[in-house]
Amino acid sequence: MPKTLPVLTIPDERLRKPAKPVSLETIERLRAEGFFDALIATMRKEDGVGIAATQVGSAHRIFVALESRTPQVYINPEIFGRSIRTAVDTEGCLSVPGVIGAVRRAKSVTLRALTMEGKSVERRAKDLIARIYQHELDHLDGVLFIDRAVQLWETKKDAPTPRV
Ligand code: ZN
Repeated sequence: MPKTLPVLTIPDERLRKPAKPVSLETIERLRAEGFFDALIATMRKEDGVGIAATQVGSAHRIFVALESRTPQVYINPEIFGRSIRTAVDTEGCLSVPGVIGAVRRAKSVTLRALTMEGKSVERRAKDLIARIYQHELDHLDGVLFIDRAVQLWETKKDAPTPRV
């Protein structure tokens, strides 16, 4: 079982710092150090469907999204296509315990990123996965869903809203 990392919660200032692009050498080093495994293990332990490196106090532009139960690692991700159509849905965040919010996001997006192997990938996603991409990319820019929410509610920890 890979080690897990502590998840930062608000008002930790590190959640507000934009993350920096990752070089191929750094990807190599992070892989050797088991950082990606630890990030995935942390997401699973916290029962999240996504996690950004920012949330564990790492300033690298990296996030994980759970897609069809498979964790996908995206490095230096960029959204370069967004649908004009938007949707409002509820979101929660591992870094904002006890709160969910209604957030308007693009319904579908196209993401470009590098994989753990340093390979370039392009993913077109809609609905929940598109929402995870947008939520995690926000983390890498120091933005939290509570900044964007049109409404916020207090919630129990076991609420069915996906936390990312
Ligand atoms: Zn989050």
